[in-house]
This record gives sequence, C-alpha cells and structure tokens, in this order.
Amino acid sequence: MSAPVFRFAPSPNGHLHLGHAYSALLNAQMAHECGGRFLVRIEDIDTVRCTDQLCHDALNDLEWLGLQWEQPVRRQSEHFEYYKKQLEKLKELGVLYRAFMTRSQIRKAIEAAESVQGTQWPRDPDGAPLYPGGPQETAAPDTPHAWRLDMTKALALINTPMIWQEAGNGPAGETAEVAVDGTSWGDVILARKDTPTSYHLSVVVDDALQGITHVVRGQDLFYATSVHRILQHLLSLTPPCYHHHGLVLNDEGKKLSKSARDTSLRDLRADGMSAREVRRRLGFS
Ligand code: GLU
Repeated sequence: MSAPVFRFAPSPNGHLHLGHAYSALLNAQMAHECGGRFLVRIEDIDTVRCTDQLCHDALNDLEWLGLQWEQPVRRQSEHFEYYKKQLEKLKELGVLYRAFMTRSQIRKAIEAAESVQGTQWPRDPDGAPLYPGGPQETAAPDTPHAWRLDMTKALALINTPMIWQEAGNGPAGETAEVAVDGTSWGDVILARKDTPTSYHLSVVVDDALQGITHVVRGQDLFYATSVHRILQHLLSLTPPCYHHHGLVLNDEGKKLSKSARDTSLRDLRADGMSAREVRRRLGFS
C-alpha cells in the first residue's frame, strides 16, 4: 500500500493567520504520525487578490513555523489549461449551463422575489443566496458568461445517495458517514467570466491529481464537501477521506480574518513571538 498523502492548501489573498498555522501543523503532524507525505498547494486562482508577494510570504511563514513539505509546490494559477479540460468533461456530460446574470442582476432578482413572496430567498450553507437563474437562460452569442452546475441534472445523473467518510466532525457534530446534500448549494459556479475554474472544481481535481488520501481542513469547508463529492462522482475521481477540524477563534469567539492584524503570523513574529510559542499556543509541541 502506498503512503497516505496530506496537504495544506491556502489561498493567499491575505497573510496567513493562526487558523492557517493550526491547519498546516495538524496536517504535517498527522502525516508524520502515519508515515505519510505532506504537500503544500497554493490555491491562487484569484490572481488579482493572491499576489506573488502574498504567495511568497505564505511559504515563508510556513517555513518559519518549522514545516517541511515536498517540492515542487503546485500553484493553481499555473494550471488553468488543466482545469479547462476538466470543465470540458463536465460540459460533455451535459451538467453545466452558461450563466449570464451579473452580480447586480442576481441581487435585484432576489430582492424582487423576496418582496413578492414575503419570505427569504433560500440561502446556501455559507449564507449566500442560491443562484436565481437556471439552464433556461439565453443571451446573444458573445455575451460573457460563467459556467454553473445544473445541480438537479447532476443529481439525476448520479441517481444514487452519496456519503463521505468524515474522521473529524462537522459544525453540528456530524461524523463517520455523512450524507451528501447537493440541493442545499443550488447551481454552484464552476468557472467565472474571467477565470476558467472555481474553488470547488480546482480543489477536487487537484486533490485527485496529487493523490491526496486525507483532506484535513477547517470546519468552515465541511458542508462544501457535498459539492466536492458530487464533482468527484461526475469526473470518476477517487474520494479522499475527510477530517474537518474546529476553527481557531479570536477573543470574541469569531473566526479569524486575513485582515486581522493581531493574529497574522507576520505580525506575531514582528511582535517578537517565536515559532515555538505559536506552536505551543495552538497545542503542538
Ligand atoms: N484554499 C482553501 C482556503 O484557503 C482551502 C481548500 C481546502 O483545504 O480544501 O480556504
């Protein structure tokens, strides 16, 4: 049997904070404990916000923490052609459609529906409203468009209940075999007008390409695993085992943000904290 493979996959659209450090250290520790491999992958498909400097700083912070990972590091922004090919496969299955609505059209459509119905438009597990358009959308041939998953069609094509193996737990204590719930996400975006992929698509195809066996990440991504399992099924990819961990919270009990000065590794380091102290504060020896 080949060795288990773990990865830490930050999106450096800001500096890494204690939450990232916890996830990276946990991945490395779990890999070490089972004789597995540890990779770092840079998820920088948002090339405007994920600058070269931030990518460089992220790797530098991880090094400072004392982590070691295999080279070369996969940077998603260098592989757009690969994601395009995966998107083509989904198009061939007939489960994607061109989505033309702009952000402001989406907002207006939802406001209008809410005022007519007097109830809130359905939200996804992250609290964002579900896409109000659908596969029936049309526009002039050259109109810029995104590609969205026709969730109803995808679930009909799969036509079997799905689960994922959860070794950690979800926000409501979900663990072991967790049932996939695609409907709660609606028609997720898989490629944007200006980016030929999305977080969901590239994370799934890269985990498979890199032979990741254990996805260890924060509970904020727990429910997104439903979308990931659906894409794995459609693209015939072997699913990894999932382990979602609790998030590092600030003193007010809120999730850390990339702009919060006091918890970025850079600032803690500038304030004189050692990597050892950071590791200890997060519960690692
Ligand atoms: N790049 C994602 C993030 O920073 C994490 C992806 C994952 O671990 O699945 O939120």
